[in-house]
Amino acid sequence: MTSRRDFLQKISFSAAAIPFLSVKEQQAAQEERYDGPVLRVAIMGLGSYATRVAEAMKECKKAKLVGVISGTPSKLAAWQARYGIPEKNCYNYGNYGDIKNNPDIDAVYVITPNALHKPHVIGVAKAGKHAICEKPMSVNAKDGQEMVDACKKANVKLLVGYRVHFEPKTLEVIRMRKAGEFGKILFFQGLSGFIIGDPNQWRLNKALSGGGSMMDIGIYSVNGARYMIGEEPVWVTAQETKNDPVKFKEGIDETIQFQMGFPGGAVASCLSTYSLNNLDKFYLDGVNGFAEMQPSTGYGPIAGRTHKGELTQPHITHQALQMDGMAELIFEGKQPVVPVDGEEAVKDLRIIDAIFEAAKTGKKIPL
Ligand code: NAD
Repeated sequence: MTSRRDFLQKISFSAAAIPFLSVKEQQAAQEERYDGPVLRVAIMGLGSYATRVAEAMKECKKAKLVGVISGTPSKLAAWQARYGIPEKNCYNYGNYGDIKNNPDIDAVYVITPNALHKPHVIGVAKAGKHAICEKPMSVNAKDGQEMVDACKKANVKLLVGYRVHFEPKTLEVIRMRKAGEFGKILFFQGLSGFIIGDPNQWRLNKALSGGGSMMDIGIYSVNGARYMIGEEPVWVTAQETKNDPVKFKEGIDETIQFQMGFPGGAVASCLSTYSLNNLDKFYLDGVNGFAEMQPSTGYGPIAGRTHKGELTQPHITHQALQMDGMAELIFEGKQPVVPVDGEEAVKDLRIIDAIFEAAKTGKKIPL
């Protein structure tokens, strides 16, 4: 897949080529000459998703990776070399509070295991820097609210890595829904799952993950149901199945099916699992039309169609769109179509809390 930057590099080989570019290409070349504020980001937790974010940020024009926080000196050295990060912007978990005195870092992107997001984000807020936090923002709504409160108190922003909120095909379906093109919406289906590997990873350790598939991947169906339907659920029911209690210990859900009821009459029927691949699908049905997305939340390209035909919006690296979009939120006060703030994350966490309660008690839980 050709990235936006590859394309721009190809067309910028010679200024003489500019007049021969199409209007769209000239606009893209103009855009490249961005001289506004750049969000200078340090990443905390240099694991697999952090690497993806760092690579994607090479395509950003409004955000830049300038710092790193890790407990492993060899990782700090490797990232310094790979991304040209100065020594003075390298921290570990013991001293990252000193970022307070570093005027060259605006925000810290927390990409550590779920249960560590809360102490890490609160630490970032205390250092007076904006916090960007991966999903799930925390392991329950109470902790999530404490993170929101801490960032408010410190007068810093708290944003959450809901990358598909910036994704063009997703935004087109949301536009259609808002324009009433599907008519009254009565049904959503969300399927979210993958087969999890290594039984010793933190994702299968409740103390670090806060739960199993629901926290990790089922959250996409929870969040997706909300932005696809455009309402907040008023009840949930849920059923858990566990085929491998050795791998999926107490507190680590293997598979949960859950249902959510919405005030306008829509029902969402969703599946979250760590035991099946090929589950990344959203289906939205209204009385006048439908939208089907598969894949719906993976790294892309997202693919889909509606009753009007294929979704043809371009694929742009999600994390690059997200980070440029977050810079616009912070510097330009822009509002995203679907929020990416801490309050948005607390809404998902409240629902997940209720799903766990419903699965445990067998009861319909009002929200
Ligand atoms: P990972 O295991 O690859 O990376 C986690 C990092 O945290 C590692 O560098 C690890 O060294 C560090 N860490 C710090 N303290 C640790 C501790 N006490 N125990 C274990 N690791 C510790 O995991 P990942 O896949 O990069 O996931 C990190 C976060 O990113 C999770 O919250 C996950 O849900 C989220 N994530 C989001 C997306 C997305 O598409 N938005 C995709 C993948 C992961």
